[in-house]
Amino acid sequence: MKLYPLFVDLSHRAVLVVGGGAVAERKIAALLGAQAQVTVNAPELTPQLQRWVKEGRIAQRREAFRGDWLERVWLVVAATSDRETNRLVATLAGLQRIFVNVVDDAELSSFHVPAVIDRAPLTIAISSGGDAPMLARLLRERLETLLDHSLGALATLAAGLRKRIRARFPDMAARRGFYESLFSGPVAALLRQGRPDAARAAAEQALAAAATGSSGSVVLVGAGPGDPGLLTLRALRALNEADVILHDRLVGAGVLELARRDAERIEVGKQAGQHHTTQDGIHALLLQHARAGRRVVRLKGGDPFVFGRGGEELEFLRAHAIPYEVVPGITAAVACAAYAGVPLTHRDHAQSVRFVTAHCQSSRDTLDWAALAQERQTLAVYMGVAELGVLQARLLEHGRAASTPFALIENGSRPEQRVVTGTLGNLAERALVHAVRSPALLILGEVAALASTLGWFGAPPLGATVHDIRDAAGDRRAVAAVPVRADMLAAIHRG
Ligand code: SAH
Repeated sequence: MKLYPLFVDLSHRAVLVVGGGAVAERKIAALLGAQAQVTVNAPELTPQLQRWVKEGRIAQRREAFRGDWLERVWLVVAATSDRETNRLVATLAGLQRIFVNVVDDAELSSFHVPAVIDRAPLTIAISSGGDAPMLARLLRERLETLLDHSLGALATLAAGLRKRIRARFPDMAARRGFYESLFSGPVAALLRQGRPDAARAAAEQALAAAATGSSGSVVLVGAGPGDPGLLTLRALRALNEADVILHDRLVGAGVLELARRDAERIEVGKQAGQHHTTQDGIHALLLQHARAGRRVVRLKGGDPFVFGRGGEELEFLRAHAIPYEVVPGITAAVACAAYAGVPLTHRDHAQSVRFVTAHCQSSRDTLDWAALAQERQTLAVYMGVAELGVLQARLLEHGRAASTPFALIENGSRPEQRVVTGTLGNLAERALVHAVRSPALLILGEVAALASTLGWFGAPPLGATVHDIRDAAGDRRAVAAVPVRADMLAAIHRG
């Protein structure tokens, strides 16, 4: 059976609710929200219902249900725990052609109450026709998290501008374009930030600017380390609204799959040694698409402001007066630490953590190695694996103990994640032995030793002995011992 969806104006219209328990109370609360004139029919009421009766917000009939009451009501709800009473109410309502809802009884009901997402004046209602109410509820929860609470304010703001928008854009397609940018651009963002006055001003400005041609916008989005589950809700929303997505190579396919189907995807990734697009080229693309009035998402691995050149891109956009937003992402250090079971700080081991990169000569020369070599701090090093030898040598030179533990996390948070552990003294050697490849993140410091006991994701760390792991986990998770080849060692020692 297919239901016909309907939104009903109940304000000042009489509705009868038979039953005075918790379920009736819930129904009545919703009816009062719609300003219905409610009469409750039950000898006993919940304390809340009693209060409403006392305050005159609802009326009460104590005597047994009578069919002639139905003559003056628009709707009736049967919410008693007695099936016979419910059936009587339903039958008499049917005879009088009054719509009836029998709680938890789709068969007896002639109208259903949907699961609702309330963003007044916007209402989203979901029904499974009584077949799968739990599925409808689940869907409601999902949408609840997906749809920002500021949507109601957005609808109200748009309603206030409606006449003027219609006057400025007599053409339907142009009008739709303007509404789209209003609903997904900076105006919506300002409302999400709880700044209604600024949002109204931005909407006015957009309306004024519209005369001179439409303007696009850029959202700089952090995609996290790879696991799509680590995207933020806001990132998901931006991906759903994008016309164009400029993404790095590091952004996983699982994340891109969540983007709007018909969004244009452009890979501008840089691969070690093999730059697809220069930074200037990326800037030019951003400008070109935004100027064409598109909503551009610039999608970067991890967080856009951590070794991501996000700052440079914003400076460029600002200089060209393109509106932008930034959505933070979970940076590799934070994600890899979590997925390797390495707390970046720990009361007993490390009171501070540094995010470091040493991927080229100039960044290495400007680092304060003496400070980096200090104890009781954690280093999270973003870099190519090729630089590990230099890093090891410099830290040892500046006095960090060769026994300092490390965890090297390759493909953190992804199904193929690998963790290699060891000590600063054998860092480059272990990376080579296990052929660690980019992307990999190094965590160096006392906390890194915890990877072998607290690790929980993927295979156990490579490098811990079978002994360590058995002690820690009390079982025999076998670890393949990897023989160190003499030619590999020779290569390391030659540098
Ligand atoms: N903006 C990104 C970092 C870009 S620099 C962020 O916030 O994470 C690229 C470096 O990040 C890589 O060389 C590697 O060191 C690290 N990285 C990124 N994703 C990673 C992952 N899934 N696992 C391990 N390291 C990662």
